[in-house]
Parts: sequence; C-alpha cells; structure tokens
Amino acid sequence: MSAAIIDGKAFAGTVRGQISEHVARLKEEQGITPGLAVILVGEDPASEVYVAAKHKQTVEVGMASFEHRLPADVPEAELFALIDALNADASVHGILCQFPVPDHLDERAVVARIDPAKDVDGLSVVNAGLLASGETGLVSCTPLGCLMLLRDQLGNMSGMEAVVIGRSNLFGKPMGQLLLRENCTVTIAHSRTKDLAEVCRRADILVAAVGRAEMVKADWVKPGATVIDVGITRIDHPEKPGKTKLLGDVDFADAATVAKAITPVPGGVGPMTIACLLANTLTACCRAHGLAEPQGLTA
Ligand code: NAP
Repeated sequence: MSAAIIDGKAFAGTVRGQISEHVARLKEEQGITPGLAVILVGEDPASEVYVAAKHKQTVEVGMASFEHRLPADVPEAELFALIDALNADASVHGILCQFPVPDHLDERAVVARIDPAKDVDGLSVVNAGLLASGETGLVSCTPLGCLMLLRDQLGNMSGMEAVVIGRSNLFGKPMGQLLLRENCTVTIAHSRTKDLAEVCRRADILVAAVGRAEMVKADWVKPGATVIDVGITRIDHPEKPGKTKLLGDVDFADAATVAKAITPVPGGVGPMTIACLLANTLTACCRAHGLAEPQGLTA
C-alpha cells in the first residue's frame, strides 16, 4: 500500500480562504473587523519569524493585526498592564503572547492574564477546562488543525481507535479531548508507556507529538491507519552544507507503505497552526458580537 499524502499546506490555504470570505462579510454587513494582537517579548530569532508569519497571514485574510514589542527585560507588571489594556480593547478579539518568554516571566501567569474569551491560543486553564468538560471555549491551534485534517480525511470518526503519542498541555491532552468528542476510543501514550509500538498498532488514527525524529516506523502502524505527524526536529541538512532540514516523529517513507493516509513534515500539520489561530480569532470575534460562528472552523 502507498499512503495518500495529506496536504496540510493546501488545506490551510482553503481554511484561510473561508476565513477571508467570512471576514469580508463581517465588514460589509456588520462593519466589524476582527483583530489579533501579538505580543513579542525580547528578540528570539525563531519567535521573530513566527510573529512575522502571523502578521502577514492576519493581514492577508483582512483582519487587523496589532503587534506589540517589549524589551527582553520588561517587568512583569508592564507586560500585564499591556495585556489588561488589550483585554479591554473592543477592537482586539484575540491576544497571544509569543513563547518562549524570558526566564523572569512565568508563561502560565501570562496566559492566565489574558481574557479567556480572547485566548486564541486556547492555552488557558479556563479553555482547557471547557474543552475537558465538553463546553464551548477556544481550542489550542495545532490540535484544532489536526482535527480539521482528520475530519476532512475520515468524516465520521465514531468508534475508531485513536492513539496520541505525547501528553503535553499544548498538544497531546487537547488532541485526546478532541478525539474523544468525535467518539473515538482514545489512548494517550507518553514516555512511560509500555510496549508503545504495540499500543500504536491498535490505532485507526495515530497522532505523534513527541519531538523524536522518525521514531514511528512502519511496523508501529496498523495497515490502513491515518497518521498525523506533529513532531518537528531540525537537523543539519545531509546534502546541503549550512542548511537545515525538518524531520517529523514518523519515518514517512517507511510508514507510508502501510498507512492509508499520512501527513508529511514539512507541509502537513505545521501550516494548519496559523490558519487555526486566524480561525480562533474569527470565532472569538463572532462570539464577542453575538453573531453566528463560522461553520467548520471550530471544534
Ligand atoms: P513536549 O511538551 O516536549 O511533550 C512531548 C511528549 O512526548 C511528552 O508527553 C513526553 O512524555 C512524550 N515523549 C517523550 N519521549 C517519548 C518516548 N520515547 N516515547 C513516547 N513518548 C515520549 O512537546 P509538545 O509541545 O507536545 O510538542 C511535541 C512535538 O510537536 C515537538 O516536536 C514540537 O516541536 C511539535 N509541535 C509542532 C507544532 C506544529 O505547529 N506543527 C505545534 C506544537 C508542537 P512525558 O510526558 O512522559 O515526558
């Protein structure tokens, strides 16, 4: 068997197209422009790249993008004062602080300061609790993106065995909750799981979010399974000196001989994350104004 490749880059483009159309309608019919505020503390080069990509895509879908840059030594009180001002600003519907932040700042406290209704990263305890209790909140962007890809591939997932490798608050736990909502039978595996390969072989849906390059081999994959590779490991490029290359948690060429469908790295899950950040901002905006939520862009 040779697996179908799930093209996350193309799918993210489709999602952004849907968002653009919805934003245009909101402007025309309601006079409302959704707004996303991004806070960057310090000058971490990787964060600079992510923030620039978020700004570009926010503007491209017709939303307002507000960037706030603070020095690396900004006192916590000053950061919190900015978050408080953004919480109170009606033109801002989504707020995110780009992580990592410098060591003197506590990421959990930063997230907790953001109004949960504007927490478009879905990382707050309030939004995690709403997801876990089956209520409506904002869902962490990468798991939401994986859910969209899986819905597109599989439609109804009811009764399927799903295995998520990784139990982080950022990804593994919310992914497990989303699959449970889809009526999958969910196993969340982690570094202490015994017979991990055996556990993975049960999965109709296998989602890997570990950060260990090419750990999942073909003999971990049930024939006909759908495989979602979230992991990202950057290595020196074997053929291009001075360049780097991204590897996923799944040995793509090997697993593709067994799976029914599989995401590549890069070009699979990665592009969905910013698309879902924009989807969450649109959702937050619609909720703030008591308007109908965008179809197909929420959990
Ligand atoms: P994390 O917080 O480091 O969590 C990694 C998880 O993997 C932990 O639950 C850990 O188990 C588990 N693990 C580690 N070694 C293992 C092993 N040998 N066998 C089984 N499980 C093992 O990482 P994360 O934030 O969830 O991210 C995971 C990966 O996804 C990273 O590569 C990250 O870069 C990538 N990622 C990509 C995107 C995207 O946009 N594409 C977004 C988010 C994350 P314990 O809990 O027992 O330690």
